Amino acid sequence: MFDLLIKNANLPDGRSGIDIAVSGGKIAAVEAGIAAEAGEVIDATGRLVSPPFVDPHFHMDATLSLGLPRMNVSGTLLEGIQLWGELRPMLTKEALVERALRYCDLAVSQGLLYIRSHVDTSDPRLVTAEAMIEVRERVKPYIDLQLVAFPQDGYYRAADGVNSLERSLDMGLDIVGGIPHFERTMEEGGQSLAALCRIAAERGLPVDIHCDETDDPMSRHIERLAAETVRFGLQGRVAGSHLTSMHSMDNYYVSKLIPLMAEAKINVIPNPLINIMLQGRHDIYPKRRGMTRVKELLEAGLNVSFGHDCVMDPWYNMGSGDMLEVGHMAIHVAQMAGIEDKKKIFECLTVNSAKTMGIEGYGIEKGTKADFVILQARDAAEALRLKANRLFVIKGGKTIAKTAPRVSALFLDGRPETVDGAAYAPKP
Ligand SMILES: [Zn+2]
Repeated sequence: MFDLLIKNANLPDGRSGIDIAVSGGKIAAVEAGIAAEAGEVIDATGRLVSPPFVDPHFHMDATLSLGLPRMNVSGTLLEGIQLWGELRPMLTKEALVERALRYCDLAVSQGLLYIRSHVDTSDPRLVTAEAMIEVRERVKPYIDLQLVAFPQDGYYRAADGVNSLERSLDMGLDIVGGIPHFERTMEEGGQSLAALCRIAAERGLPVDIHCDETDDPMSRHIERLAAETVRFGLQGRVAGSHLTSMHSMDNYYVSKLIPLMAEAKINVIPNPLINIMLQGRHDIYPKRRGMTRVKELLEAGLNVSFGHDCVMDPWYNMGSGDMLEVGHMAIHVAQMAGIEDKKKIFECLTVNSAKTMGIEGYGIEKGTKADFVILQARDAAEALRLKANRLFVIKGGKTIAKTAPRVSALFLDGRPETVDGAAYAPKP
């Protein structure tokens, strides 16, 4: 007798007609034709059953603050940072907690159950850290939230940057962040990486750096980050977020850089929605795309995972908490539309991100956590194409969100009475 039995599932790896049995919040069996009884049975009817979505790069302290205290007129990264600087002194713990909890509701409805959020530590009040630590506790039953100490205004450039970052880690933030391209000089950017990697090594923490989020091809902090990672023995524990300057770098230089990144086992976190929106803004025409070299980094064996980064905040007035929207944009910007490409893109939203965040017990295998999303799509490619509806979101074997299938009624003589977009893909 199982707690839950999901019948007739398609899995992201291509297996179909699979049953998944759940017992005590864990997966007890994954195989075809499980005949046992269960407290609850869900028939997936040949739809995709995926592990939950994972967002390895987000800003939970800024989300849903759109319009406060005004809109970003130029739409640039730099005006976004300036705008956030205007809003920051007005932030209260209560408002930060309320907005973050509302975002987490949205995330759960989208099957997004793991989030790594950067938390701005530039204001020595550290009201952001205090609020996000409370949110981390309150959402624990349904979302695993990791918090990065992020010196938005610069580790050295902000008046109290060095001290505030250390204090926020003492308060209980989980990961060491940084922003080397925003320090005053290239040299100080490099020094900040050495200091931040040292802190991480001494405290036994991971590192996640906003690294080279610029179109300047000479912004090469990722090289220093890879070197400091090896120097401090942090291989596999360090993430380079954005890395957009790599888009514009000299190709010969990149042929040296990517193997250095592979040696350091850097986790690469592009943010396709934000990168395509914010990069290339100083270009007239042609305008650069600005996303890092996803295909080449994957081919070199690096772990690449995509972040949502922003939802309705000073930097981005769109976003929906839907990681499939992120993947949909990645397919276009990286021009990765082949069948195998789409499988890889789906992994960038799930298993690769889980690896970046160091999540244990993730995936659909015997013994892993009974956390799933059942999508209104047959496979990963179709889920990405449709940004498919989440029919069920299941945590520890229990349904925590549910959406009715999206079906339109049609009133046309001689044509079908209903249309289900998920039924239109040609059978392979
Ligand atoms: Zn960011």
